[in-house]
Amino acid sequence: MLNGFPVLNRIVESFAKLPGVGEKTALKYALWFVEHKNESLILSKYLDVLSNDIKLCKRCRCITVNSDGVCDICKDETRDKSTICVVENMENFFAIESSSVYNGLYYILGGFNSSLYGVDTEKTGLKNLIDRVFNEGIREVILVISSTIEGDFTTQYIKEKLKSRNVNITRIAYGIPVGVNVNFIDKTTLIEAFKSRRAV
Ligand SMILES: [Zn+2]
Repeated sequence: MLNGFPVLNRIVESFAKLPGVGEKTALKYALWFVEHKNESLILSKYLDVLSNDIKLCKRCRCITVNSDGVCDICKDETRDKSTICVVENMENFFAIESSSVYNGLYYILGGFNSSLYGVDTEKTGLKNLIDRVFNEGIREVILVISSTIEGDFTTQYIKEKLKSRNVNITRIAYGIPVGVNVNFIDKTTLIEAFKSRRAV
């Protein structure tokens, strides 16, 4: 607590809430923004957009600012609409999307959360995912899902629900040991695992 500097205090408190940022680093960040006023203005502008305009896409649960609630990836006509990549969370989505290894559709189970909400199929949107596969003529479902109890449950659930359909279900495997959460592997390993996916 810095007595006599309420604004600075409040900003330090906000930065200190960021993952991996302690109070000392938070103060360093705050002072950097005091010194770089233009960067501060840019950040405040985008934080405003983030708080007021960004929502989850109603089809894939990726983030979007589009007023109809459907993201640019879901609208992109050049994408392979017969393939859907199911990822645990937004971080995994960005890792795959930024690698150019994949050009199909997505479904983000956990949204911003890094867990799969246990076995809650409502919260993870698993039911919506199954509906999409049924209604959109999906031919391959790629699972970027951890080798954990929750991940295995999710995989079995999807497999069971789609068994009556002629859908190829694959899951990343290569280089990812059993029990390892995909959130803790580096991007290169994730991409290699993606390329080496296997049928489940
Ligand atoms: Zn979308």
